[in-house]
Amino acid sequence: MSEGGKKLKISIVIPCYNEEGNVVELYNKINEILSDYTVEYIFIDDNSKDETLNILEELSEKDSNVKFISFSRNFGHQNALRAGLEYSTGECVISMDADLQHPPEILPKLIEKWKEGYEIVFTVRKDIENVSKFKKITASLFYKLINTLSDIDVKQGAADFRLLDKKIVRILIDDITEYHLFYRGLISWIGYKQTYIEYIPNKRFSGSTKYSLFKMINFATDGITSFSIRPLKLAILLGLSLSFFSAIYGIYVISMALFTDETLKGWASVLVSILFIGGINMILLGIVGEYIGKLYIQSKKRPYFLIKKSNI
Ligand code: UDP
Ligand code: MG
Repeated sequence: MSEGGKKLKISIVIPCYNEEGNVVELYNKINEILSDYTVEYIFIDDNSKDETLNILEELSEKDSNVKFISFSRNFGHQNALRAGLEYSTGECVISMDADLQHPPEILPKLIEKWKEGYEIVFTVRKDIENVSKFKKITASLFYKLINTLSDIDVKQGAADFRLLDKKIVRILIDDITEYHLFYRGLISWIGYKQTYIEYIPNKRFSGSTKYSLFKMINFATDGITSFSIRPLKLAILLGLSLSFFSAIYGIYVISMALFTDETLKGWASVLVSILFIGGINMILLGIVGEYIGKLYIQSKKRPYFLIKKSNI
């Protein structure tokens, strides 16, 4: 456990958004489980509306290994992770949620794998009994969508609970400069020596989920557009097949007019097709817009987050 009598330093990065009921419990648990190591805690307060920041400040006064970074506004989970990685100083960094859904009991297993030489040890949620039905369905849809529409392969149930060697952390901070962060995709994309551990999630210890449906949809779109332009290719494919079918139908309509006395009735079908094509056009424009919007935001080079208060 120790190198030359000195304890190994491990950083734990914990994004917190309204987690007043969880942070102390999590801190105590980790302290107990990782007593063989020097643990550097980096709590990122994503501009919580509750007492989270005060609790973190109190904790940091008691223990100098507790660092906190408080954002000027809610910058989101992924940006909070980035802040934590950026300021971590441990030999390896473990990121986990504040709500104890990611069981601290498996931390020694992650560290074990790292000691075996793996530079990235991610986790895969095995049994999701402790997760709501809604979450199960949306999560499974999320991974399916990402894996079909993008060029990377994210394991079903791989969340932001992972260990990274400090070398990987430096790459993620210095070399990855994209604004719309989707770490589970980046981890798959980055390569290096990876392995994973399966775990059974706990129930959220206190409070409720901070990921609304809207946030989840946004997150999924970021995941897909960050790693693929396949949706744009789908647009071409859809356009081509629609043109093909309308050409065939056109031939049919013209031959009816030329070779028979029947005229095709149907303002209804005309209206429906106009609306249909209109709808498809709007959707495709939206997809193109999504990519252009991302380019626009990226070109501004704004910071990932702004710090309101910190003890680092
Ligand atoms: N979180 C955050 N900023 C946000 C939303 C969430 O820092 O805007 C944190 C949250 O405090 C938790 C982690 O991200 O530590 C995962 O959130 P949550 O547990 O609500 O997500 P779920 O487990 O329901 O997917
Ligand atoms: Mg959770």
